Amino acid sequence: MTTAQRVDAIVVGSGPNGLAAAIRLARAGREVVILEAQPRLGGAVVSQELTLPGFVADTFSSVYPAAAASPVFRRMPLERHGLTWVHPAIAMAHPMPDGRAGALYRDLERTAANLDDLQPGDGRAWAAWAGPYLDAFEALRATMLGGFPPVAGGARLVTALGIGGTLEFARLLLTSADQLATDLFTGPHARAWLFGSVLHGDVPAEESGSAIAGSYLQLLGHAAGWPSPRGGAGNLTGALASYLRTLGGEIQLESRVDRIVTARGRVAGVITADGTRWRTPIVIADTSPHAMLQLVGDAMPSEYATRLRRFRYGPRTVKVDWALDGPTPWTAPEARLAGTVHVGGEAEAVTAQTTAVRRGEIPERPFLLFGQQSVADPTRAPTGKHTAWAYTRVPSAVAGPEAVTAHVERMTDQVERFAPGFRDLVLARHVQGPQALEDGNVNLVGGDVGGGTYRLDQTVFRPLPALVPYATPIRGLWLGSASAFPGGAVHGVPGWTAASYALARTRVTAS
Ligand SMILES: Cc1cc2nc3c(=O)[nH]c(=O)nc-3n(C[C@H](O)[C@H](O)[C@H](O)COP(=O)(O)OP(=O)(O)OC[C@H]3O[C@@H](n4cnc5c(N)ncnc54)[C@H](O)[C@@H]3O)c2cc1C
Repeated sequence: MTTAQRVDAIVVGSGPNGLAAAIRLARAGREVVILEAQPRLGGAVVSQELTLPGFVADTFSSVYPAAAASPVFRRMPLERHGLTWVHPAIAMAHPMPDGRAGALYRDLERTAANLDDLQPGDGRAWAAWAGPYLDAFEALRATMLGGFPPVAGGARLVTALGIGGTLEFARLLLTSADQLATDLFTGPHARAWLFGSVLHGDVPAEESGSAIAGSYLQLLGHAAGWPSPRGGAGNLTGALASYLRTLGGEIQLESRVDRIVTARGRVAGVITADGTRWRTPIVIADTSPHAMLQLVGDAMPSEYATRLRRFRYGPRTVKVDWALDGPTPWTAPEARLAGTVHVGGEAEAVTAQTTAVRRGEIPERPFLLFGQQSVADPTRAPTGKHTAWAYTRVPSAVAGPEAVTAHVERMTDQVERFAPGFRDLVLARHVQGPQALEDGNVNLVGGDVGGGTYRLDQTVFRPLPALVPYATPIRGLWLGSASAFPGGAVHGVPGWTAASYALARTRVTAS
């Protein structure tokens, strides 16, 4: 039998949260090893030539407002490790059937001018609403992208916005995008423009929690932009890994953790699929809650296991990458300059898609989050050629290869509606249905891109109601993935916060 290697901490999984956790531990002088199941680093932050040689596709995620705003990544010298953010001229555009589009610029005034042009008054209303939040952005960032409980951020919000403003913000958390749009806008374009951002999450625009989901992303667009890494999403992962290595951290690929070993209620180590044993007092799990439970097995106290099993995942997803012979020929000029295009048309059509998916029906006109990174980043494709990236949420009926292919045709038809001639530009495409997504990264449970649903209760209490939601009853075991507060998107906050708690608890235990 081989003897177990001993390290100060093991991180299970090398997604952005795993990397952030490992960096936090390594910066505190801990000897840390990341064990990653896949043959590649980065979890859902990876680039590959999926379609044709020379066309860089982002295999999963691609556009990173939360990373650009992340207080965790801001602490790291990622630019020195190869990361360059590319900001498109327009962060996001939402084309409508009339050939016009609402646009999100970084500049608030330009955004307001665009929305006013579409419906007089809608731009001014947006600027008047967003302005105070942007003035208080540091406090907002500390609240939304700090760990749980968001006490320090909340206190800063009170200072920045006053009691009245903070209570308005609290109301925003509880209200719907439908209500916010009704409060602010009279025209259809701005309404649809807000609803499109809501659908980055899975909360329908008529439900509590959707107002903050959509408007927060728009605010991030003004405060930090919606950039992508030059040369591909994988360059963000590359920068994080390179920085970790300079701190002495180690990463082992193709090392799936099969078991977390415990003794007397504490973490004792892990065992990988090939039988390698590691001894360690700290394990940060960049995994789904259910996977973490499985790794611990019967040693997990049943009361906690029962509560954690209530964690719910979001809808399934179909993702497509295209190699194109030219830029996507959007009718709306703003869409041609945008990094991200929300494809679905009117607010009602966008809402109909979520309703259909929730009812288990296949939407004839799916809503697409569409990225065209090569517009602002020519390194993504050969000269004159372009890339496109899109995903949409689907009901469980879209499962097998035939159903997925049929849905990709619906997705392509949707793009064609707003960009006639798109089909003719397609040189090649690469499709991932729900199962392929999960096969590529076990954290994408059932093809859920969010690491769990964002229904309001589970966004605030994530993964479950607790003062320190990253903690588990097993001493030394912490959940540090998108399934912990503040949740998905690439920002590293759950990983970093879980590691910070682990360090603090270890110190207390040692003294
Ligand atoms: C199609 C798609 C599009 C998205 N688009 C965006 C976007 O544009 N912008 C954005 O901000 N976010 C986006 N997201 C969400 C974002 O990618 C995730 O929220 C983020 O990657 C979560 O990071 P994580 O570290 O928690 O987990 P992940 O990135 O999922 O990484 C988890 C890692 O842990 C590994 N792992 C799990 N279990 C084990 C085990 N037992 N042993 C060893 N390794 C293990 C997995 O192999 C994986 O590498 C998208 C996600 C998807 C799928």
